[in-house]
Amino acid sequence: MGARAAPYLDQLNPAQREAVETLEGPVLMLAGAGTGKTRALTARIVHLLNTGGARPGEILAVTFTNKAAREMKERVAEMLGHGVEGMPWLGTFHAICVRLLRRHAELVGLKPNFTILDTDDQLRLLRQLVQAAGFDEKRWPARHLAGIIDAWKNRACTPDKVPAADAGAFNRHGPELYAQYQARLRELNAVDFGDLLLHMVTIFQTHEDLLEQYRRRFRYILVDEYQDTNIAQYLWLRLLAGGHHNICCVGDDDQSIYGWRGAEVGNILRFEKDFPGARVVRLEQNYRSTPHILAAASAVIAGNQSRLGKTLWTELDSGERLRLIGHWDGEEEARWIGEEIESMQGGTRGMRPFDLDEIAILVRASHQMRAFEDRFLTTGLPYRVIGGPRFYERLEIRDAMAYFRIVMSPADDLAFERIVNTPKRGLGDKARQVIRGIAREHNVPLLEGARIAVEQGMIKGKGSAALGRLAADIARWGRMAGEGEPGHMELAGIILDESGYTEMWQNDKSPDAPGRLENLKELVNQLDAFENLQGFLEHVSLVMDNDQNDGAARVSIMTLHAAKGLEFPAVFLPGWEDGLFPSQRSMDESGIPGLEEERRLAYVGITRARELCTISFAGNRRVFGQWQSSMPSRFIDELPEAHVEVLTPPGLYGGHGVGAGHTAPAQEHDLDDRAAQADGYNSPGWRRLQQRLQVRGGADAPGARQVLDLEAAGSFVVGQRVFHQKFGYGPITAIEGDKLSVDFEKAGPKKVVARYVSAGED
Ligand code: ATP
Ligand code: MG
Repeated sequence: MGARAAPYLDQLNPAQREAVETLEGPVLMLAGAGTGKTRALTARIVHLLNTGGARPGEILAVTFTNKAAREMKERVAEMLGHGVEGMPWLGTFHAICVRLLRRHAELVGLKPNFTILDTDDQLRLLRQLVQAAGFDEKRWPARHLAGIIDAWKNRACTPDKVPAADAGAFNRHGPELYAQYQARLRELNAVDFGDLLLHMVTIFQTHEDLLEQYRRRFRYILVDEYQDTNIAQYLWLRLLAGGHHNICCVGDDDQSIYGWRGAEVGNILRFEKDFPGARVVRLEQNYRSTPHILAAASAVIAGNQSRLGKTLWTELDSGERLRLIGHWDGEEEARWIGEEIESMQGGTRGMRPFDLDEIAILVRASHQMRAFEDRFLTTGLPYRVIGGPRFYERLEIRDAMAYFRIVMSPADDLAFERIVNTPKRGLGDKARQVIRGIAREHNVPLLEGARIAVEQGMIKGKGSAALGRLAADIARWGRMAGEGEPGHMELAGIILDESGYTEMWQNDKSPDAPGRLENLKELVNQLDAFENLQGFLEHVSLVMDNDQNDGAARVSIMTLHAAKGLEFPAVFLPGWEDGLFPSQRSMDESGIPGLEEERRLAYVGITRARELCTISFAGNRRVFGQWQSSMPSRFIDELPEAHVEVLTPPGLYGGHGVGAGHTAPAQEHDLDDRAAQADGYNSPGWRRLQQRLQVRGGADAPGARQVLDLEAAGSFVVGQRVFHQKFGYGPITAIEGDKLSVDFEKAGPKKVVARYVSAGED
């Protein structure tokens, strides 16, 4: 082959080399995390080019994210060491299919310049169809239909191929509405996301000549993260590879984490049947993680029934054990992680110093990010959020903030524009033009313009009544804010509920709706730390100013889903609590599948770490302003104690900090008895957590909440000098439930929640 000397081959083990050098015929690399699947796949591209086996345009490589595609391109260029003419087709399924569909749009009745609809447009269209079919949108929301149609598209079902079993969908009108929707899209010369693949599958299925042409063209196909392909993607690949069978797929059944979005782990398990004679390469040496990390991850995933099972080993030095730490609540967890990261930069607990770029925080649910973002902004710790907008930039958060803004400042026209028809109030472009016209004419803000327009009967249809109500509601909420009664947290909840905004997402059947509701709850939670809505709005405007693209080293924050395929020297995995991780939904589901997918997610999380993996949980979290107690995740029980070090949590109210770094030898620890163990440290936080954990049944248990409140308030006495993050020092003048009245030295008398106050030694 003449490639012996090639350095990219020297960097591979024999099994990887086999996968790289077997250029003809189907190859499946099925192996655990960190075994070098992606590296081998990248080397395979280089090898094809380097040996003259293929020209760049003859290689089609599919990655799971755009970020992964970019990285692979860079690495190919680097490994080649010299430029090539052109680049392989390297991208996500969607990116590749857009490119192909533009060339052949007419075959499915589209023009090459078709538009790709976003979710909003898609919903608008579906809503029109649902209404035209005489459905009551309240009972039969368009979002529900959108979910059904997406699922059909994931399974490559065109309207004429909807399975008989689904005939009853959407009150038996699903299939027909789906057909209407597709027809309408065609009229508009538009596609939705799911169509990109669906149309390409249809084209290949119905135009054999064209398929042949592409089979000749893409002589080598490579797919990363194959375990997370859906049926449409699978069919598309099978069609393309059907002639030559030069397809190399790599994946790990244990990392299949997109079942909720239609991915079929069965695709990878069926590979040998689909492509007879496939060379199956198994990789067992892990190059990423230390033995402790690897052993812990392997033990957790062993809890799953449905898996192929693999062994992993490593030659790396044993390194640090996984670290486990429990906290009183989510804020405390964020504070600890922030401080730990600060001290890790200088080297702490006998470890090497870590650069911020080497550290990642991986959360189960995006609402968990808020606590970290706020904390890091306060302390000035640079961070970046990967694979999604930062908390305050999310759609639902900006909508909610717009509601708060218009209530606090009725002249905020931008806020008005944002919320006037969100949720839908039948106020289309025409109505808005009328409002704008009047506002200009009278030289008043839009809200006032709206009021006048309604008064003068200038808005037509049912939108008029809705707009009148909205204007009156905003005025009423404004008065409530002025009176300070109810409190601003409650008021925020009232605004979101009475405006119909919360309900809009509750009726939303799309997979990201539950996450958005969680984010809204988190937003309300956060208000607790502020005196009123105005203060909160000011805080957020400062937060939004923070620029994360200045090239500085930053801690990465992302969801576990977004972390797939990535690696970091140090990883924090917060929020390991039942109900959060595993998610409540997966626990409620009957049967194993949901829970097993969560466990795979735990496996993905742990195996992102190279040297240091820190898992944490909190005994309490606020949900919609209410404290809820939580139990440590069942996955924590599955961590083998020999590979775990239990860290001493810091004192509850800012007592001895992280730097103290007491750790205890692992042998002495029984993970099943964590709380009792920790009590041995005599830390007040742990004692309370332990008490807390004994109140089984979570927040629903009678008395759980009271116990919690009293615990917090009960640690203070009247006259005691305390410290509050925002208001500073002062003596307690009264205690009432979980609220303390404090006469702050600088800020004056205030009522604060006990939880935010610490004993005030200077
Ligand atoms: P995942 O399942 O998480 O996607 P993976 O199997 O794709 O993992 P890679 O990301 O390719 O694994 O590799 C993991 C790490 O091991 C990377 O840092 C990679 O550079 C390194 N690595 C892979 N193969 C070798 C090898 N033969 N020698 C040394 N290091 C290697
Ligand atoms: Mg990989």
